[in-house]
Amino acid sequence: MNSQTRFPKIFSCEFFPPHDAEGMDKLRRTRAELLCLRPEFFSVTYGAGGSTRERTLATVMEIQEEAQVPAAPHLTCIGSSRDSIRAILHRYQEQGIRHIVALRGDLPSGMRVAGEFRHANELVAFIRAETGDYFHIEIAAYPEFHPQAVSAGDDLERFRLKVEAGADGAITQYFYNFDAYCRFIDSCERLAIAIPIVPGIMPITNFTQLARFSDACGAEIPRWIRSRLESFGEDMASLREFGLDVVTDLCRRLLEQGAPGLHFYTMNRAAPTLAIWQRLGLPVVG
Ligand SMILES: Cc1cc2nc3c(=O)[nH]c(=O)nc-3n(C[C@H](O)[C@H](O)[C@H](O)COP(=O)(O)OP(=O)(O)OC[C@H]3O[C@@H](n4cnc5c(N)ncnc54)[C@H](O)[C@@H]3O)c2cc1C
Repeated sequence: MNSQTRFPKIFSCEFFPPHDAEGMDKLRRTRAELLCLRPEFFSVTYGAGGSTRERTLATVMEIQEEAQVPAAPHLTCIGSSRDSIRAILHRYQEQGIRHIVALRGDLPSGMRVAGEFRHANELVAFIRAETGDYFHIEIAAYPEFHPQAVSAGDDLERFRLKVEAGADGAITQYFYNFDAYCRFIDSCERLAIAIPIVPGIMPITNFTQLARFSDACGAEIPRWIRSRLESFGEDMASLREFGLDVVTDLCRRLLEQGAPGLHFYTMNRAAPTLAIWQRLGLPVVG
């Protein structure tokens, strides 16, 4: 973990683009509540194949125009053409957006679109070729390995390819295994990967939803956590209290061991992130 301690700590929050005006209002309130954390950026997810293109752009532009916290749009390349990606990059440049999260994405099953990119390293290389050093590029990292990885070693080599293509930093898939992150960082050190790798943090507030996400993205819910969560049944207050304990403890250990910040998967809600932040005793502004 030593290599990560030299980077400044960066805290950030992630949102998904709301579906309607009501969702946009809710997200405005969430953003306002999270301002006191003074995050480095607010990131906004992007549906693979451009499925949320307009909603992502609208959310990103609104955050950027407010000018309180910089917007960091996610951009997925699967199913996209070079021309469409180029157009989005130029739009972001016009708005003064400097931070981007570059991803491959997953096409929804049944959706088959001819695209000009196969993997995220190609997107990173394309962004660099088109816009030079203009963007600060984040990529995805998987301490428990990507579910489609051929092997752990191969996944690490693929991760190195993305870094070599020009990434400045990485954000991890969420995880609850502290050791998986530490071992991942150690492996990156051995491969001379020298970028900050910020842990992605998923607060635990709803077991059914978490289990669904985890099955889809390959993030393991350790058996002891799963059993406890199941045992709470409809007792949401106890479940949230337990989740808060587990995730705060994870964050504390990560920061103590030198993780270069935390990236919160907020699910467009402020309270779970704020609760973890307060328990960690991190500074609040205003
Ligand atoms: C922080 C974060 C944010 C995310 N945001 C979004 C989002 O906004 N929208 C969305 O749709 N999804 C998002 N995802 C999910 C992500 O799109 C999926 O996990 C997707 O399956 C992989 O994307 P990637 O960029 O990691 O792909 P890649 O880096 O391309 O890796 C995907 C798989 O291919 C392998 N691989 C990589 N490069 C090569 C290569 N050159 N040749 C052969 N094999 C290779 C890898 O080992 C891995 O198994 C996010 C994930 C994270 C961790």
